[in-house]
Amino acid sequence: MSFKSLELDEKIASNIKRAGYETPTPIQAAAIPKALAGNDILGIAETGTGKTAAYVLPILQRLLEGPRNKVRALIVAPTRELAEQIHESIKGLSRKTGLRSMTIYGGVGFNPQIDKLRRGFEIVVSCPGRLLDHAGRGTIDLSGVEVLVLDEADRMFDMGFLPEVRRITALLPATRQTLLFSATMPEEVRHLSSEVLTAPQIVKVSRRAMADTVRHSLFPVEKSKKGALLLELLATTETNSVLIFTRTKHLAKRIAEKLAKNGHKATSLQGNLSQNRRQAAMKGFKDGTYTILVATDIAARGIDISTVSHVINYDMPKTVEDYTHRTGRTGRARRSGDAFSMVTGEDRAVVRKIEKIMNARIERRAVEGLTVNNAA
Ligand code: AMP
Repeated sequence: MSFKSLELDEKIASNIKRAGYETPTPIQAAAIPKALAGNDILGIAETGTGKTAAYVLPILQRLLEGPRNKVRALIVAPTRELAEQIHESIKGLSRKTGLRSMTIYGGVGFNPQIDKLRRGFEIVVSCPGRLLDHAGRGTIDLSGVEVLVLDEADRMFDMGFLPEVRRITALLPATRQTLLFSATMPEEVRHLSSEVLTAPQIVKVSRRAMADTVRHSLFPVEKSKKGALLLELLATTETNSVLIFTRTKHLAKRIAEKLAKNGHKATSLQGNLSQNRRQAAMKGFKDGTYTILVATDIAARGIDISTVSHVINYDMPKTVEDYTHRTGRTGRARRSGDAFSMVTGEDRAVVRKIEKIMNARIERRAVEGLTVNNAA
């Protein structure tokens, strides 16, 4: 399938070209025609598959016609970073259409958002809490919403946002198109989708499609040697940008500081940074001021940096889903990447599960004097 065969408006087509997209990714090929036809969609796909454009393109095509200066498409996402990324993606794909997108999330002032809402933007990308605040204050008019997107629904569930999401859907016109995307389908997300979707078309992209561009390696190690192993891996591996995951935010900070002391351009991203400092860290990582970003799962949610060459699990995640999410940050958009994981005896169970889902044994690698033979 080609983008041409989707018969999108010329301006949108030229924006797709400008973004460097040559052919639709599998999720786009499957979802775009169905969304253009007006169907509700349940999209099972993770970050890195091109899911954002899969819903943004049909939304833009739809909004080209019809009223302007009122909110007609609402995209709800779990984190500010993801909301910003979606917004950036819309900005690129909507050039010259006159359609405008804005973000709404907490941690920043109310008034600039209210001013923008007054001016009338057609697309709002929002995190749940602040959107409800605006609705409660009567500063957003949701009566014209034709399309609702719930992105990363499983993560919204993880973060405890489903009650808010339900309250949001209750504020919207009952006749609308709803698109729900989720990397995994826990019971609660299944419930939510049966409540909010009408006769949905199910579009699924298999996990393996992504994992193929990522080389996975395990480094069995004793806890006390992790720091030394990390330095050694960074010293002996040719990397572009490196994303390192830790279990706690304190550790993320500590490791970034240690790496900086050792001459690396490293910073950390933790859940409790102010919005400005988060954005500065993200921006610095994007533009190469920092080549290493240390983060926890929540803080790194939605990070989309196409130059990430290596994901390093300093601590293994607790679940297969988190592993897939983390390692999905590399090997994006058909680039290849590496996922290094430091594993201790405690990680045995999750390693088994990951290998079962990948249907392959992950390579164990040794580093003299630092790795061990018997763990994991
Ligand atoms: P997403 O899964 O939406 O986060 O997208 C992952 C990355 O793929 C982003 O950097 C997109 O810009 C990129 N992308 C999306 N669609 C395409 C496409 N058709 N061809 C190449 N890259 C794409």
